[in-house]
Amino acid sequence: MQFLAEELEAMKQGGLYGTIRTLESPQGAWVTIEGRKVLNLCSNNYLGLCNHPRVVAKTKEYVDRFGVGPGAVRTIAGTMSPHLELERKLAAFKGAEAAILVQSGFCANLATIPTLAPAAEDRIFSDALNHASIIDACKLSKAPVVRYAHSDMDDLKAKLEEHRDAPGRKLLVTDGVFSMDGDVARLPEIVELCEAHGVILVVDDAHGEGVLGRGGRGIVDHFGLHGRVDVEVGTLSKAFGVMGGIAAGSAVLVDYLRQKARPNLFSSALTIPDVAANLAAVEILEESDELVTRLWDNGRFLKKELSALGFDTGHSETPITPVILGEASDAKTFSAKLFEAGIFATAIVFPTVPRGTARIRVMVSAAHSREDLRFAVDTFASVGREMGLLR
Ligand code: PMP
Repeated sequence: MQFLAEELEAMKQGGLYGTIRTLESPQGAWVTIEGRKVLNLCSNNYLGLCNHPRVVAKTKEYVDRFGVGPGAVRTIAGTMSPHLELERKLAAFKGAEAAILVQSGFCANLATIPTLAPAAEDRIFSDALNHASIIDACKLSKAPVVRYAHSDMDDLKAKLEEHRDAPGRKLLVTDGVFSMDGDVARLPEIVELCEAHGVILVVDDAHGEGVLGRGGRGIVDHFGLHGRVDVEVGTLSKAFGVMGGIAAGSAVLVDYLRQKARPNLFSSALTIPDVAANLAAVEILEESDELVTRLWDNGRFLKKELSALGFDTGHSETPITPVILGEASDAKTFSAKLFEAGIFATAIVFPTVPRGTARIRVMVSAAHSREDLRFAVDTFASVGREMGLLR
């Protein structure tokens, strides 16, 4: 086992060893780390729901009624009425016929991709920048994976043509919002291509749930493509502020996944506190788009101010705001200096992003006040100047 220590040491030497900070408070605009209150600019708590009083209250109510654990996998004894209640609510919210709930967004990809295209004669078309959980889900299928250049429709079209005569099923999977750059998949064009080539379309809307579309109804709603995307995979761990994954689509798709998807058959159901908290989160989103609007206002403000200072904020189309610094060592030093100044914003380095594009990925939330964001901008400016990184 000596290789473990050697590899870890090499990662440390290469600046690729991640140090993980511990939060001593609930998630929120401000969190406590090492006894200090710091501004939180790196969680996916887009709407501030992680610790919302209504979410907490509903969780307590359901725990009193149903306890905590599901006791089994869904198919044996683990399906409880709150699971079905949440599935119905999520499907209605998204305008889909049905939805199946699994344990996480990661599991939702594992539940969907290898289940729909399992065989060696099948083909899986995958955007080059897809999330790690999609890459791993593809590995659980025997189908060859055909990677197309990121959001490059010409390359995709050429690859679809090349595999036109493949004998099995064809499936295309793409992130909806690309998590490290914040750009949005060219879904209307992808839908057209999939329809023309008889390809099953799966969109992972992890960063679009609760963010894109009317009142946060997701990427399919954003583009008005209801009924034309076969599977909307999503996570409840980001804007919804809790945990859990879903796959939404037609009733027959969901019926099939219930019978065949291995995370549903062989891993226990989501816990009652998760389900109850998610129910409250959907209710909050159904009632008002106020939080979603505030999130976008905050995102626009921060992006405008940071790029006016001379930072490279990439080409994000969503509230995700990358501040691209280049070298991993610069990003790590920048993050450490921000922390000294009262800001928690993790450096993102290879292998999460390509080498030479290390960054601070700034994640705003509806929970941030304008004053919080001004403090962020001022602090980024002073650290940027101190390190000589401003253009
Ligand atoms: N898909 C994408 C595109 C993601 O960004 C993430 C979260 N990092 C996931 C899936 C996994 O979601 P979860 O954290 O709910 O497992």
